[in-house]
Amino acid sequence: MPHKIFRILLLVLFFILPAKPSFAGADIAKIKDDLERALGKDLYILVVDRTNPDAYLHPMGYIVITKGMIEDLTDESELVFVIAHEVGHHMEKRHYRGERGLLGLSQEAYNLAKEMEADNYGVRCLKALGYDPLASVHVLERLIKLGRGDALQLRERIRNLRATLPSEASALESSGNGC
Ligand SMILES: [Zn+2]
Repeated sequence: MPHKIFRILLLVLFFILPAKPSFAGADIAKIKDDLERALGKDLYILVVDRTNPDAYLHPMGYIVITKGMIEDLTDESELVFVIAHEVGHHMEKRHYRGERGLLGLSQEAYNLAKEMEADNYGVRCLKALGYDPLASVHVLERLIKLGRGDALQLRERIRNLRATLPSEASALESSGNGC
């Protein structure tokens, strides 16, 4: 079954490829384990040896993160946020398929809404795992500083995070169910 072979290949790649981040103390395998425990599901994370900073959810459902992206980060909490943000896209895909059509949003507004939702998800994971939720803001601020991505969109996302950080934190405390 090709799909199964593909998954096995991914797992092999995960263990073969050096997943060592550039900053001291960070450990992708540990972050993966922690997130899996919080989510109660398996995650597939592929670290690729490319210098361009990028992280995205592959259509097959696994998270791709480049070494260039990891090099833009300064600590483990920021890496957790980047990975959890992509997990957020994965969850959103499963739950809100077709939302754009229902709400009649423009592609641009829809993209921004999806990014904000994934950001909020990332913040909930940071809280669930005991990291500072402000790491989310720090990542996006650094991306602007380094000239990565759409600065206008990144600023909107920072505004959203700053507005929702307290409520995201308290929502998590009351639900107590991880991310
Ligand atoms: Zn995203």
